[in-house]
Amino acid sequence: MALTPFFLLFTVLSLPSLPISATVSDAYPSIPGTVPIDGGFTFTDAPKPIRREVYGEGKIFDISHRYTPEMPSWDSTEGIGRFLWLAASMKNGSLANNSEMKFPTHTGTHVDSPGHFYDEYLDAGFDVDSLDLQVLNGPALLVDVPRDTNITAQVMKSLHIPKGVRRVLFRTLNTDRRLMFKKEFDTSYVGFMKDGAQWLVDNTDIKLVGIDYLSAAAYEDLGPSHLVFLKDRETILVEGLKLDDVKAGLYSVHCLPLRLVGAEGSPIRCILID
Ligand SMILES: [Zn+2]
Repeated sequence: MALTPFFLLFTVLSLPSLPISATVSDAYPSIPGTVPIDGGFTFTDAPKPIRREVYGEGKIFDISHRYTPEMPSWDSTEGIGRFLWLAASMKNGSLANNSEMKFPTHTGTHVDSPGHFYDEYLDAGFDVDSLDLQVLNGPALLVDVPRDTNITAQVMKSLHIPKGVRRVLFRTLNTDRRLMFKKEFDTSYVGFMKDGAQWLVDNTDIKLVGIDYLSAAAYEDLGPSHLVFLKDRETILVEGLKLDDVKAGLYSVHCLPLRLVGAEGSPIRCILID
């Protein structure tokens, strides 16, 4: 259809006007002690970015953490620190702003590939680019696990997760303790003990295991649990999920890692669609 000038004018005039100053969601900041970031504008009526955890009044939940210098880093009390800088800055005369960044691939919400704990798998190319997007996307259960224990075989049994369920996000005491919002790495986080990982592999159809701190494996079973999960190269671990303020239940999960060839881990953006 050829558009007449009149039609074009009508279309432009019919568009809803964009708000000059959008309000920052009340649901945020979820990082204690932080304030909404204003985007660096100095004039008072500058537009403000909207930072959301939930879109469409509960249709989409963002279950990925923001990357900030204060976010926890493995075995460190200092957080990840400054990881992003303006390598070329318009304030310094550059034509455009261009940032660079550097941080461990297992920072924040991230995914593990089989090469994370199996050197021979990494050598063979089982990196994050080889992960199955059909496992990382599809129906998923968000479940609450008992808050007073690591995830053992006993706990797994008690959850009664039906056969056929392929993706489960385990919400634990880590979420209640807001560990992902704390700069200091905390070894007392909750994760899978070896027998819990083994029970899951042997008795369920779960191929996507999501957890709410930096490791799916409990600190005291770090190696053994990872080895159990990653051995068959079918189970994918998504770690550091942000599961606050989402009801337990069935969703559609969508997780997309970066295509980092040769990397055993990658930041990952995950959302739940209701
Ligand atoms: Zn990891």
